[in-house]
Amino acid sequence: MPVTLLGAAEIRALAADLDVTPTKKLGQNFVVDANTVRKIVHAARVQPGERVVEIGPGLGSLTLAILEAGASVTAVEIDHRLAAQLPATAARHGVPDGALTVVDADAMRVTELPGAPAVLVANLPYNVSVPVLLHFLETFPYLQRGVVMVQAEVAERLAAAPGSKIYGSPSVKAAWYGSWRLAGTVSRQVFWPVPNVDSLLVGFDRDEIERGDDALRRRTFQIVDAAFGQRRKMLRQAVSPLFGGTAATASVALEAAGIDPTLRGEQLTIDDFVRLARTVH
Ligand code: SAM
Repeated sequence: MPVTLLGAAEIRALAADLDVTPTKKLGQNFVVDANTVRKIVHAARVQPGERVVEIGPGLGSLTLAILEAGASVTAVEIDHRLAAQLPATAARHGVPDGALTVVDADAMRVTELPGAPAVLVANLPYNVSVPVLLHFLETFPYLQRGVVMVQAEVAERLAAAPGSKIYGSPSVKAAWYGSWRLAGTVSRQVFWPVPNVDSLLVGFDRDEIERGDDALRRRTFQIVDAAFGQRRKMLRQAVSPLFGGTAATASVALEAAGIDPTLRGEQLTIDDFVRLARTVH
């Protein structure tokens, strides 16, 4: 039996049955358009037999599209009512036994994923999109690539290159793990309720080579936060609290890493930040 997708009327009926009124607190904007969920799955290049993790499956529209492509899904949902309903919805839509595993939990706190999925596909809750992405990349080394839908500004930041105004701390931290690209547009009209922000798809591929251990990552992220905490200041000032307390001591470290101390954080690549962090190791 082929897997069938959810239609707009069925999504609203399901929500009514469960007494679910979408909440802003949990970023609940459900996709009610089959073309959009198929477009996301296509952008993620989901292949039959792959194991995908989805954060926030909600009522299951994107989940069913991933399953329709022949992948199996581990879905992490914080809303107990939605998590409890999902297996029944999947069974009614032709999903074979064993293809879907639901984890009823806060995605920010999960430390294990059944099936060690290699692909992340999600319409992320907007309020936690960047922290949850970084948590997943940090915690699950088997996660190799993914496509997620996020607020347009967040997608642009994640994919931004050094030197641009929107390049900031999320851009550099995301780049620690791999390369990012914008992967498609999405109309506001495909959501219920219609959000008051635009959304974009953003994709990533994890780098094959790891940049360093956890201590180096923490140190690097600390420097990144300091650099962008005062992004208008020259680096020798912005990062001075982490390098001896003065612009002069910070300049020594910056020069040792081959970085001009008069630059600003937005001009540095992830490799520059890592070199600077290594001067402390
Ligand atoms: N994937 C569904 C879709 O596209 O229609 C729903 C997407 S909706 C934008 C975000 C979903 O994430 C909601 O189902 C919400 O309950 C869930 N969610 C919010 N915060 C979460 C968290 N910390 N952990 C897991 N799920 C979360």
